Amino acid sequence: MLGQLLLAASNSGVVRRAVSGFPLTKKVVDRFVAGESVEEARNAVERLCDAKLAVTVDHLGEETRDARAAEATANAYITLLEALKPLRLGTRGEVSVKLSAVGQRLDDAMALEHAREICAAAAAVGATVTLDMEDHTTVDSTLGILRKLREDHPSTGVAIQAYLFRSEEDCRDLSAEGSRVRLVKGAYREPASVAHQGRAAVDKAYVRCLRILMAGKGYPMVATHDDRMIAITELLADRFGRTIGDHEFQMLYGIRTDLQESLAGAGHTVRVYVPYGDDWYGYFMRRLAERPANVAFFLRALGGK
Ligand code: FAD
Repeated sequence: MLGQLLLAASNSGVVRRAVSGFPLTKKVVDRFVAGESVEEARNAVERLCDAKLAVTVDHLGEETRDARAAEATANAYITLLEALKPLRLGTRGEVSVKLSAVGQRLDDAMALEHAREICAAAAAVGATVTLDMEDHTTVDSTLGILRKLREDHPSTGVAIQAYLFRSEEDCRDLSAEGSRVRLVKGAYREPASVAHQGRAAVDKAYVRCLRILMAGKGYPMVATHDDRMIAITELLADRFGRTIGDHEFQMLYGIRTDLQESLAGAGHTVRVYVPYGDDWYGYFMRRLAERPANVAFFLRALGGK
């Protein structure tokens, strides 16, 4: 119930202004966001790489309905990739892109053009790009843009949300050699007409999608903090003869850092999703919605403890 309220608040302009204006909010946001500037993002990436972790960096922002803002976001990614170049990350470096931040709500062609610019800038520094998945109304458009991007940049990946009824089919379509799929449970408030509701149903759907990806020939990116999903991934890797380098785990910045480091210490590729920028509100509220304990953390910080 609290999670549903927080997801609703993530779309509310009134709540956004109230939360953003609160002086202590920044202290709490810092737990989940690497900073506002490119320099802070770069420093966070450097720290994570020193700890043997890979990264996927997200320039925060979503739902742009302004062509200039879409262009500014694409340019921000290009600046970011140039700033990361001296770190020589190779495939340990990646950026995550929300197509709605580069014009998808205005025009698919605009989003495709900006995504192409970002893919070209990433390729120039040896990094990859993964498309985040947003609410269910964007899935067909995102997968269409992915197909076009992969003609020139075949390593471009995409997130698939296990909670959507359609996702088993999408995983089947994307399980061929060369494809990179980040499997997530799903973070948006979706209606019962398109998505499983409730934790148990979503978890079961996650396992079904995971099985399809692990049995396939692509590169599964298992994005979860759930111990059970991680254990099931290891069982499926055994069953389908996968080795440690042909799939990876992914987790969010600031969440279960102990687990991130222990999996990396055991030889797994663990990629940390590193969000940065000043448009942190939607991202931050979805993280609160995922876990009531985070709300308690937020309230304690507002009380100065
Ligand atoms: P849960 O069942 O939510 O959590 C399992 C356990 O993990 C919890 O019991 C808790 O111990 C820990 N945990 C989970 N969340 C938190 C938290 N916020 N704070 C502290 N502990 C926590 N969603 C999309 O819809 N589109 C995307 O493109 C997308 N990209 C993502 C990229 C990455 C790398 C990751 C890790 C997640 C992404 N998500 C995305 C979010 C995802 O859909 C889930 O909302 C989120 O990962 C929580 O689900 P979980 O699998 O960790 O399992």
